[in-house]
Amino acid sequence: MTVVQKTPFTATVLGLPRVGPRRELKRATEAYWAGKIDADQLHAVARELRTAQLTELQAAGLDSIPVGTFSYYDQVLDTALLLGALPPRVAGIADPLDRYFAAARGNAGSDLEAGVEPLEMTKWFDTNYHYLVPEIGEDTAFSLNPEKLLHEVQEALELGVSARPVVVGPITFLKLAKATGGAALDRLAELVPLYRDLLGRLAAAGVSWVQIDEPVLVTDLTADEIALVRSTYTELTAPTERPAILVATYFGHSDGALTALADTDIEGVALDFTSGTDVSDVASVPALASKLLVAGVVDGRNVWRADLDKSLATLGTLLGSAGSVAVSTSCSLLHVPYTLAVETDLDDALRSWLAFGNEKVAEVRLLATGLTEGPDAIGAELAEARAALASRQADPRLNDGQVRARLAALGPDAVKRAPAEERRVLQQDRLQLPTLPTTTIGSYPQTSAIRVARAELRKGQIDEAEYVRRMRAEVADVVALQEQLGLDVLVHGEPERNDMVQYFAEQLDGFAATELGWVQSYGTRCVRPPILFGDVTRRTPMTVEWITYAQSLTDKPVKGMLTGPVTILAWSFVRDDQPLGDSARQVALAIRDETVDLQAAGIRIIQVDEPALRELLPLREADQRAYLDWSVQSFRLATSGVSDATQVHTHLCYSEFGEVIDAIAGLDADVTSIEAARSRMEVLDDLNAAGFDLGVGPGVYDIHSPRVPSVEEITTSLRAALKAVPAERLWVNPDCGLKTRGQAEVEASLRNMVAAAAAVR
Ligand code: GLN
Ligand code: ZN
Repeated sequence: MTVVQKTPFTATVLGLPRVGPRRELKRATEAYWAGKIDADQLHAVARELRTAQLTELQAAGLDSIPVGTFSYYDQVLDTALLLGALPPRVAGIADPLDRYFAAARGNAGSDLEAGVEPLEMTKWFDTNYHYLVPEIGEDTAFSLNPEKLLHEVQEALELGVSARPVVVGPITFLKLAKATGGAALDRLAELVPLYRDLLGRLAAAGVSWVQIDEPVLVTDLTADEIALVRSTYTELTAPTERPAILVATYFGHSDGALTALADTDIEGVALDFTSGTDVSDVASVPALASKLLVAGVVDGRNVWRADLDKSLATLGTLLGSAGSVAVSTSCSLLHVPYTLAVETDLDDALRSWLAFGNEKVAEVRLLATGLTEGPDAIGAELAEARAALASRQADPRLNDGQVRARLAALGPDAVKRAPAEERRVLQQDRLQLPTLPTTTIGSYPQTSAIRVARAELRKGQIDEAEYVRRMRAEVADVVALQEQLGLDVLVHGEPERNDMVQYFAEQLDGFAATELGWVQSYGTRCVRPPILFGDVTRRTPMTVEWITYAQSLTDKPVKGMLTGPVTILAWSFVRDDQPLGDSARQVALAIRDETVDLQAAGIRIIQVDEPALRELLPLREADQRAYLDWSVQSFRLATSGVSDATQVHTHLCYSEFGEVIDAIAGLDADVTSIEAARSRMEVLDDLNAAGFDLGVGPGVYDIHSPRVPSVEEITTSLRAALKAVPAERLWVNPDCGLKTRGQAEVEASLRNMVAAAAAVR
């Protein structure tokens, strides 16, 4: 019999980033895809990254280190593989790595074989990380494939690391999956034996603790689901030959589920004290008195330095309610950059307020020492952290009297425009658009000329003036193309924007950019979210020159193109010293100033994109109303500064509106473009049912695919739309921006779109 040590540990993190501090894994993976390196070379890069990371964490003094959160693409896909639940359509691909990547990103196929569609991708809870949605069919026969995890565990144990394997738990896995032929959770009974088997294998490998991630426990669960939590973990803990089990929840409080969990024989639970869990939640669950509580007091998904005094106080209180307490980050470090040490452009004050991955590990270690040895043992560090916090609170950039006074002075009229019908008449009078006006969402293909210019600017090979000259040439091309295609409302094409949020953040005071602060968004795609640290002001107009230049080239109206406050916040690291709604109002005011300037410069239509409106929706229903209120109000603040004759558009990147449908009407935008090509216009019925009666542009073709839609197809789409929406409210557009598409397909697709609109008129 394997003797398993279940001694509690004291300092850990819940998971690790994997792209590499310099995106080494991204580069190697893309090289593998391009056929430039082979699988062995890719594995070698991965092994080197893991080894370096484990060694570093051990040296930093963590006494339990997560293993298995490494992934070549996504941890949920890895779990599907672990449980034998890859979709049948990839089963025929012989090479295991290629099979895995085919599930992740599809493959193009060959002359002999049709290509494979990838799994669908969606947001991991309320983060900006995207996971692949497992597909569970009636004939999915689950089976355990623990090789990857066992391999990584072995590797860590050989390094002498006290490895704590991490797996996504069965309830979370199934709740995130898409099942056909019944509810996914109905399949739970098939998974439990596999997890038990896995636990046995890990015990045999010499592992003393296993972390089972069940973040879905922080969402609203039914009583039946909570009962499943109880029965599942009762069954998983029944065998004696198993490691100690730590169930980890994060991104919120796990209320009802926590009691059920604690009633089982699991040895530990990880809770997130940075977003919703409170010390009193723990005190009210007596069963925790015999368990290890892994206290996520260091925020794992934002970049601020911890308030060590406050954390120590929390930890001290928790000691009274739990068997033992370990210090941890609130969630995996996947969501923050690797280290602050490589950033050279941040000013000293700002730098002192921040903590990225490595710095968070150091905070965890310090707090663990402070907890066991008393605060005096970390006196110098506490003093330094206090000084940093005090400097942050006192910094004038966090408290711009002018912005605050302007916001305070705004009355209810600041978010109101005339009734929609009055606006429609005024706007139509001025714009003289045909029925079924055609337009696009904003961006045009990011051509290689654009990419070359950006790279040359970065390397200092061309100056800013030359860069602007080249981008203006791109704008001129895009305007000429749209004229030639016969579109009714034109755009400038956004060549000057790489990432739209970064673009605005760079021009607004209160935001800072990092050089190497990469965070995985999905697969090999990484983003560098701006850091919103202070009050927001717009120094000078941000887009007016670009838009007016485009407008100078045509008589047709050119849309001003802005990003909305909610989206700017959703894709940034945000302030934690004031409510998000307050930050949103500040960003909204800056955008509002921009709309007013655009209007003054003669721009008649302004689009404010809010693709992230739904994404920031709180996980718990109880919190959603308040969010929708401030998010809608901030959009209206951003868009109500213009005259009623200026037409306001917005763009939302999805069609499953669900909880946000009323909010969309609440935005009161004159025209809303949405994704609909893939959902066959059903979305229009949903909008009608919610009483929406403004202009709407349901995307008439899917830009996520390179396929060129035929005139007939688009005509059919439009006719379907006309059944739900009267012609005077209907717009004709693709369902999202065109920046990722090729030039030739875009021209062909838009030509067909314009022809279809003409035919239906
Ligand atoms: N205007 C943006 C574009 O066309 C909108 C992007 C988005 O919806 N994510 O690219
Ligand atoms: Zn979109």
